[in-house]
Amino acid sequence: MIILKLGGSILTNKDSSKSEVNYTNLNRIAKEIKDSNVSNFTQTNDLNKDDLPDLLDYLIIIHGAGSFGHPSAKEYKIGEPFKEEEYPKKRIGFSKTQNSVKKLNTIICDALISEGIPCVSMQASSFITTKNKRITSFNLELLEEYLQEGFIPVIYGDVVLDRDLKIAVLSGDQILQYIAKNINLKKFKGSKINTSKKVILGTDVEGVFTKNPKKYNDAKHIEELNSLEEIEKFDSTTNIDVTGGMIGKIKELLELADLGIESKIVNANEPGTIFKVLNNKEVKSTIIRK
Ligand code: ADP
Repeated sequence: MIILKLGGSILTNKDSSKSEVNYTNLNRIAKEIKDSNVSNFTQTNDLNKDDLPDLLDYLIIIHGAGSFGHPSAKEYKIGEPFKEEEYPKKRIGFSKTQNSVKKLNTIICDALISEGIPCVSMQASSFITTKNKRITSFNLELLEEYLQEGFIPVIYGDVVLDRDLKIAVLSGDQILQYIAKNINLKKFKGSKINTSKKVILGTDVEGVFTKNPKKYNDAKHIEELNSLEEIEKFDSTTNIDVTGGMIGKIKELLELADLGIESKIVNANEPGTIFKVLNNKEVKSTIIRK
């Protein structure tokens, strides 16, 4: 099973104050996914699961919200505690954010469908809730059923109901971690399909560096990461940019590493990278494992 996350930094122009899709990346990556040998969608439907070639694998796609989520989530401070009288305004902020990320998801699914990928969009706000920003309920059964029926679920960063904060932002990175940790692969046994879990994150840098590579020319690439302490060893003030999303990703991925699930961060801006990584070919990356 492959769980592929495509960052908002890849599919949108993330720093833009307007919601802008990066169509060059989106269309190219949709094609790279289509051209890869991992998914069952390129095969004929009348094949019995037992007849499927060994290369086939289940695929789940998760994407970030980028410039479709951040502006309104930030404007309305979604995820911060608020007073009851502020709720009407917060609700509108929630609605705007939800609607905006839904639009991005529709555009992404359009591109995937154009390549013949039978994706099924699953909106986090419709079936996931959190408590203090961490997932507490998530119906994985439906997702598993879609997979078994040959669909490629596409789930994305969204706003959700939160037991403590009423409403919160849920990142694609946390969704990825939850699915990788909790998906029940027992149901998939008996078929030739690979039941091991492979986690790939496509972002706009080649993984983790000793400093933010977008800001520092002397940032050094880290090939393998086993703990947070390793990062803390690096230059203490400039190692990991707290405003960048990298530290959040690393924390989610280290939780998976604790369970023996390995993940890889790659640069999806680089043409061919997603194709290669889906097909087990070498790419520059950071591997996170214990
Ligand atoms: P995405 O939208 O793809 O999920 P984010 O923008 O949230 O990705 O996180 C990736 C960004 O993290 C990179 O563009 C980079 O600028 C930033 N970053 C901060 N510190 C580091 C670091 N030490 N190594 C790599 N990237 C870092």
